[in-house]
Amino acid sequence: MVGHQKVAGWPDMQTFEHYVPTDQMRDRCSKYVAFGMSPEACAEFNLTANRCDIWLSADFPPAKWVVEHERLHCKGYDHIGMSTMANLLARHRGATGGDLASTGGDFASTGATAPPR
Ligand SMILES: [Zn+2]
Repeated sequence: MVGHQKVAGWPDMQTFEHYVPTDQMRDRCSKYVAFGMSPEACAEFNLTANRCDIWLSADFPPAKWVVEHERLHCKGYDHIGMSTMANLLARHRGATGGDLASTGGDFASTGATAPPR
């Protein structure tokens, strides 16, 4: 299982789970995965709107751990050793006006590619 650590000060976000056709999920999620990797699901954070959107395939519902993984991200948990979400929050707090750097995302992928660590 993937280890997680909570980002200090992460806001209590409203979480929305969207089950959409695989094509739509890929459109949403492909920008977060490395080239050649196939996304299984992803979570998008919007610190300005204080919401977290999880995108999942309705055609091929992801494994339970994938859903749980994205839910943890929405609750403010990042992968152990990674500071992507903490940096996002810090930039958001430092930003004056506009919602620059207030959104970000994370993904889960399975299949032919290596599982996230
Ligand atoms: Zn993740």
